[in-house]
Amino acid sequence: RRKKIVQECERLMDKPENIRNIAIAAHVDHGKTTLSDNLLAGAGMISDETAGQQLAMDTEEDEQERGITIDAANVSMTHEWNDKNHLINLIDTPGHVDFGGDVTRAMRAVDGALVVVDAVEGAMPQTETVLRQALREGVKPALFINKVDRLINELQEGPEEMQRRLLDVIDDVNELIRGMLEEEDYDWSVSVEDGTVAFGSALYKWGVSMPSMEETGISFGDIIEMERNDERQELHERTPLSDVVLDMVAEHFPNPLQAQPSRVPRIWRGDAESDLAHQMRDVEDEGDVVFMVTDIGMDPHAGEIATGRVFSGTIKKGQELFVSGTAGKNRVQSVGIFMGGEREELDRGVPAGNIAAVTGLRDAIAGSTVSSVEMTPFESIEHISEPVITKSVEAKSMDDLPKLIQTLQQVAKEDPTIRVEINEDTGEHLISGQGELHLEVITTRIEKNQGIPVKTGEPIVVYREAPQGASREVEGVSPNRHNKFYISVEPLSQDIVDAIQLGEISNDMPELERREALQEAGMDKDTSQNFEHLFGTNILIDDTKGIQHLNETMELVIEGMEEALNDGPLAAEPVQGALLRLHDARLHEDTIHRGPAQVIPAAREAVHRALIDSEVRLMEPIQDVRIDVPSEYMGSASGEIQGRRGRVDDMFQEGDLMVIEGIAPVEEMIGFSSDIRSATEGRASWNTENAGFRVLVDNLQREKIGEIRERKGMKQELSPAIDYI
Ligand code: GDP
Repeated sequence: RRKKIVQECERLMDKPENIRNIAIAAHVDHGKTTLSDNLLAGAGMISDETAGQQLAMDTEEDEQERGITIDAANVSMTHEWNDKNHLINLIDTPGHVDFGGDVTRAMRAVDGALVVVDAVEGAMPQTETVLRQALREGVKPALFINKVDRLINELQEGPEEMQRRLLDVIDDVNELIRGMLEEEDYDWSVSVEDGTVAFGSALYKWGVSMPSMEETGISFGDIIEMERNDERQELHERTPLSDVVLDMVAEHFPNPLQAQPSRVPRIWRGDAESDLAHQMRDVEDEGDVVFMVTDIGMDPHAGEIATGRVFSGTIKKGQELFVSGTAGKNRVQSVGIFMGGEREELDRGVPAGNIAAVTGLRDAIAGSTVSSVEMTPFESIEHISEPVITKSVEAKSMDDLPKLIQTLQQVAKEDPTIRVEINEDTGEHLISGQGELHLEVITTRIEKNQGIPVKTGEPIVVYREAPQGASREVEGVSPNRHNKFYISVEPLSQDIVDAIQLGEISNDMPELERREALQEAGMDKDTSQNFEHLFGTNILIDDTKGIQHLNETMELVIEGMEEALNDGPLAAEPVQGALLRLHDARLHEDTIHRGPAQVIPAAREAVHRALIDSEVRLMEPIQDVRIDVPSEYMGSASGEIQGRRGRVDDMFQEGDLMVIEGIAPVEEMIGFSSDIRSATEGRASWNTENAGFRVLVDNLQREKIGEIRERKGMKQELSPAIDYI
């Protein structure tokens, strides 16, 4: 059976008009996993009985245990619609916003997003997040409203109430969609009449849509009656969920031939008139190979598996391909597809328009562009949030150390929102990620899947340092006193910081383009013309003119500044949002006297002095928090936010629950999940989402700086110049 399906997939691979690349995206617990299992069972990939129990998409053991989907796992299946068989490549996306990076990457590889919303809960914060990710990548949405059985059995709703409830959900989703689309975009709102909305029960495996109701003659009244009379098996047989949803997918999501012409300009900023651009837009299977990696997985036998989308050419065993961001080429060892979570190697190549699983790409990481010709890589994938929390991990047994190091390197490759570092002083390994749960999942995975017992430290929040005003021009002097740099610092505008974070400004883009992007973000023309270097979200502007030897020394100046920005003057935390202006410099005639040992400390000193003069402050990461609770627990739940230096912004009724929305510092949110559980006797559901950095209140600055310095083994007293704190 499996072999037959593989053969059919291979046949369909060459017919891009019959291919649909899709993702399922949902708020946690709304039923994405159950729906995915339905689709796989419907396509004959897993048995009907095991659907819902097998959790075929959750391949990592810890995901099955926790019942949440973490890694983007991928499957291909076939489905007949309109008398033609279709190849449907499904990319799974994680449901928790702690894993936002994975969701964005998955969206890059697909053309349609099936958004699952629980009929009782309605659109939730992560519904909004995943929708935004889809629309920003130019991915078309369709809606599946799940758990309709609950409206019938738990809420005892009649046909009219039910219809009203479903329309409310659709309206909410459409309001979100319309708010997110830019004017030039298409109208991608969803509607029952168009057939871009389906609803049903993933648990009981039935579903309906306008076209399916017309075809089967099933009415709302029939559904209610059959649910109430426990005739669910019959309901499933008469209107199987997988058919209804896969029909919707085949009919309403674009195939690669329709999608790539508009998606390529959106996600790739190379020359739009080049041959390569044409090949990608035209899904040219005989052209140059362009493969975008969205995920790296590990196979105990085959090693690293790069999953991604082929945009042009045909990727084949034996090809030597460039990997963006690295110098050499990698040789493709095998190509294949995913079937029910398992990889199936193919003897043939995988052509443009398909999702492929490729081994041999040793240097690729999630986000890499792999190609047969050197090319501009796909725009760097935007990560919605930077790491905000760090934890140390140590192997309990020294014998496990090499294996631990290897595993950590692997983890960093699979998930670019994770950072792994070694603390040079203590030798301990530090992993940084999106939140407490994110790190917990990673360490569980190391312990359980790799069998390495580890000790972990307390989670530590990552801070930033940022200038608060404009500094005067200050001097940095080299140890031999023969080299001097004169610089000032001022805060960058939020628009410019946003543009940097969106990847619109980078060091390696053409100068003219960068100048335009800077001006568009609000930088004045003269300043933008003197752009010299970008460090994180900080920019160096070189306002000097005709200083001898400066050009050849600039690299060292940049190195010194980079050190100063990586370790800010307050607590050696990274500096963000600073515009550095180099006004003047004195350099020794003789190269020997302006080497690294002289220039680097001088540049570093200049930056730190200017930052201090700009009244640099510690910034702390904050999170948006939303709690849903029965009203009797409202007081204790909102107390959990307020007691954490947080702020409640809004409280309102939604359905039978109260919703509390607010913000709180990430540091104070450590331990929140168990506290809220006991405060509400487990009746609350909650979400957090990283919301950037904000200045730590003045009366905590000195204390917090002291704490961080102590932890880092730095001396306690601050430079007297920092007395403004
Ligand atoms: P995910 O987190 O979005 O992957 O959600 P799951 O598929 O794991 O489902 C979360 C919970 O909701 C599980 O306990 C499911 O059994 C349950 N569930 C999923 N679909 C339905 C449904 O249609 N009706 C009901 N009553 N429960 C459902």
